[in-house]
Amino acid sequence: TRSTRPQRLLGAVQKNATRGDPCSVIQAIDHFCRNKEWAMNVGDEKGCILDAVVSEVNPATVLELGTYCGYSTVRIARLLPPDAKLITLEFNPDFAAIARQVIAWAGLEEKVQLVEGASGDWIPRMKEQFGVKTFDLVFLDHWKDRYLPDTKLMEECGILRKGSVLLADNVICPGTPDYLEFVRNSPRYESQYFKSHLEYTKVEDGLEKSVFLG
Ligand code: SAM
Ligand code: MG
Repeated sequence: TRSTRPQRLLGAVQKNATRGDPCSVIQAIDHFCRNKEWAMNVGDEKGCILDAVVSEVNPATVLELGTYCGYSTVRIARLLPPDAKLITLEFNPDFAAIARQVIAWAGLEEKVQLVEGASGDWIPRMKEQFGVKTFDLVFLDHWKDRYLPDTKLMEECGILRKGSVLLADNVICPGTPDYLEFVRNSPRYESQYFKSHLEYTKVEDGLEKSVFLG
């Protein structure tokens, strides 16, 4: 039977990355995606912007929407302080199974809680299920038409606090026009665009960082 792209990506990690070394996992995935098969990871170029925001915020609690193979999960988790917690949501069970192995290969399973299911179902249950009151940082990278409704849902559920940072990927390509117009025009957010390129290409894309003002 033929393998899937996520399975081949995992194979590249197992072949080329050192167990317990997150940077080697990131490098192995970037190398595979630049030279063998494109995949929808945030990638190395926007990944540097993601790293800078994570380091600046120095979050104790992070929510990631859209795990895929765990590339950005590893990127974020490797920068977190010892007691920090990253919850990442993925509704495709095949992707979640690959991501678990990628995260374990990086040695980061202690810091990461991968939750299988849809963001709309889990966001309202963060408090009761995981005991997390508010998130310091949210990385939005799931389906692009969910950014806006899930942001409004996070507000309603009270899991954003004054100063929580939303970082949204792919705001230009594939694009999230309704979300961008919302965070840029709402007095409840202070929003900033970081210009870059779509993962592993020269096409313009970027990240939008939006601070929730409460
Ligand atoms: N953040 C990953 C990275 O940079 O390595 C890439 C994530 S990929 C672009 C988007 C993922 O979100 C897909 O794996 C998809 O199955 C998942 N997804 C889409 N909508 C979702 C939702 N509403 N809830 C949970 N997962 C979702
Ligand atoms: Mg993305």
